[in-house]
Amino acid sequence: MEIKIETGKIIKILGGFYYIYNNDYIVECRARGSLRNDKIKPLVGDIADYRVPIDEEHLGYIEKIYKRKNYLIRPPVSNIDQSIIVFSVKNPKPNFILLDKFLINSIKEKIEPIICINKIDLDKDKAEEISNNYINSGFKVILTSKDIKETIVKLRNMLKNKTTVFAGPSGTGKSSLLNEVKPGLGLKTGEISQKLKRGKHTTRHVEMIEIYKKSWVVDTAGFSNLNLNGIDKYNLKEYYNEFDDYFCKFNDCLHYKEPGCLVRKEVDNGKISKLRYNNYLKIFNETKEGF
Ligand code: GDP
Ligand code: ZN
Repeated sequence: MEIKIETGKIIKILGGFYYIYNNDYIVECRARGSLRNDKIKPLVGDIADYRVPIDEEHLGYIEKIYKRKNYLIRPPVSNIDQSIIVFSVKNPKPNFILLDKFLINSIKEKIEPIICINKIDLDKDKAEEISNNYINSGFKVILTSKDIKETIVKLRNMLKNKTTVFAGPSGTGKSSLLNEVKPGLGLKTGEISQKLKRGKHTTRHVEMIEIYKKSWVVDTAGFSNLNLNGIDKYNLKEYYNEFDDYFCKFNDCLHYKEPGCLVRKEVDNGKISKLRYNNYLKIFNETKEGF
């Protein structure tokens, strides 16, 4: 019998089954043992060759995973174009250290981060203040509210023809925003459903949704902390681009307590955001020595 191989994209993994999207079809597959031997664990977002099932009663088999452009560990997804990191201006109040950790993680994986400050209906001025801080540090920022239509239109335009991961703590409005971006999507929102999502007896799974043609999003259950693998006291500063313009007395200045540190001086002068510098110091103190 002829073996037919086709190529598609893994969009969901659940209970050892892989759901591969190919030209508007979704094919349920298992992974070949040979993948396991090569220590390749397929991820949502992977492009895969699979053996086409003989009929609808049968399963397909993943034969090969193509090289990934990038991937994240939390959430486990690959081939991502951008991450939208959602924080709310209040309820819950923003944790800027965590925001910076999300940014660092995204930059490290070569995924373009966009900061989304949501719930601006609750405090517009505060939202602008936070936004200015991060824009001055060179980041893309979008201000949103699920109830302000033009902000949703902007967000929708950002998603076109891209694969986007929505990240950020729970309760900041990720699911609500996506429901507005695509009416009828029906993602669960609110405190109670968040608890259910994290409940012990529900299976956690990652899924990619084609929100518009060729525009994919991953909505993740929010998490409240993030480990920064591969970041140490010496390379942390590489993730703070706004420090690059200054040549401190010492070439290898870590902008900590060294004499002649121009970064510290520019923080005092207000040229570098105090918020960002203080985040840097806090993460610096949490981070281990080099390898
Ligand atoms: P998620 O955990 O990030 O997916 O957050 P949800 O979408 O479940 O929203 C958490 C809560 O915040 C819900 O009660 C939403 O109604 C509320 N919420 C979401 N977006 C907004 C917003 O733009 N403004 C206000 N005031 N509340 C919002
Ligand atoms: Zn310095």
